[in-house]
Amino acid sequence: MNFKYRLTLLYSKFLETKTLKSKVYYMDDRYHGLPSSIPAKAQQLFDHAKLNECFDKGDTVAIKCHMGEWNNSAYLRPILVRVIVDKVKEHGGKPFVTDTTTAPYYFYGTRSTADLHLETAARNGFTHESMGCPIIITDGMYGTDDIKIEIPDGVLLKEAYLANGIAEADAMIVVSHFKGHGSGVYGGSIKNVAIGCSSKRGKINVHLTHHHKVGWKTWGFDGDNCLGEECPDYVLCNNMCPVGAFKIEKDHATYDREACIGCFGHQRPLFRCDLWDREKYEDWRTWFLIAMGDAATGYVRHLGKENLGYITYAIDISPACDCVPGSDSPVIPNLGIFASRDMVAIDVAALDKSVEVPGIHGSVAEEKEVMNPGDEKFTGIVGMSQWITANTCSRLGSGSMDYELVEPLVSEDEAAFAHHLFTPETPSGYYLGKGLKKFGTWTPPGGFSYRDKPSVTIEELSKR
Ligand code: SF4
Repeated sequence: MNFKYRLTLLYSKFLETKTLKSKVYYMDDRYHGLPSSIPAKAQQLFDHAKLNECFDKGDTVAIKCHMGEWNNSAYLRPILVRVIVDKVKEHGGKPFVTDTTTAPYYFYGTRSTADLHLETAARNGFTHESMGCPIIITDGMYGTDDIKIEIPDGVLLKEAYLANGIAEADAMIVVSHFKGHGSGVYGGSIKNVAIGCSSKRGKINVHLTHHHKVGWKTWGFDGDNCLGEECPDYVLCNNMCPVGAFKIEKDHATYDREACIGCFGHQRPLFRCDLWDREKYEDWRTWFLIAMGDAATGYVRHLGKENLGYITYAIDISPACDCVPGSDSPVIPNLGIFASRDMVAIDVAALDKSVEVPGIHGSVAEEKEVMNPGDEKFTGIVGMSQWITANTCSRLGSGSMDYELVEPLVSEDEAAFAHHLFTPETPSGYYLGKGLKKFGTWTPPGGFSYRDKPSVTIEELSKR
């Protein structure tokens, strides 16, 4: 083969990789037997998307997920994370399940220190036993164990702070719950990386509280709107601020801008009691969406695209984040399960599907009048574009808005997704039979006794 021809081939190959769309593998949530269960489909999609290629045998693999706030009930069921842990183990990886400490978003938020976070996770069903691997809060007890990531070309952020335990892992599989989000518009893979992988200081940074133009610390404050000590929440408010910068005294509230560390702790009085000048609010809200794209991009670059994989469960699609202490009715039907090596493409695929389906009656989708196929549900519910964060990431090169949706056939191999002790030779009855050989039969002496037919007619029992 001559040199020129070889160059032509190389150039074609280059063009092919340039034009190749990111693949997003997808299955719906319908159940038609064991291999079509959601956990089994997630495992099949793991294989189709070749998520095992993110890591080598013996590598430490972070399984990044959200284990739910206290009394949230829409967060991912533990089994949906466990099956990904099992896949990583099957391919020789050394998994650990992880999340990070949060900012104190709520008076009674339970995940802002590592110990409280683990307690909540256990209450929600996430333990070493249920996961089959360690659970690690990777930014330390108080969220200060992190590394600074420079983002020189960030659209807003110049830096972000990545949890050290995630930074030190060899690879990461990001397992996300797709749903709405009050600040992020929607939650998916990008947010799971941008906020979920940020240390506490990183979260405060991405929430832009210190931004010199739109950050909270720059907003006008009117403490006279506060009811003071007549408010039933005044003790809570007074004890919430970790540095004593927000205080309620007699008939008003005070705010010490210099002392404030921008932790988000007093957002309830901010929003509910109208203590703040909202002039900068809209800018702050939309800029936060950009900041998330910056941070997620910084982390993807640092960790390496080749070491990252994504699984998204678009089920129980509540309008708000799993960070809130409760879950509202789903706004759209379950969409299904997605897997990809592209953080942006997987989110855009889920968003596109959410546009296609109708809203659910009685949910916020109806209140906000985004019930029709074709409506951008989350844009309508939150009042900001659902595309800002994905577009930011795409412009920075951490993923693609353009994708190819691949819908593989669902396996028919039941044994492949059954308990590992079950085979055609040893189904569940086999194990029962072993027991019966020891204790005989459960049929009572003389057999069971029945009436010849029901003593009440089916017609009568069928009436309301
Ligand atoms: S005043 Fe500042 S430091 Fe105190 S709770 Fe509010 S945001 Fe946090």
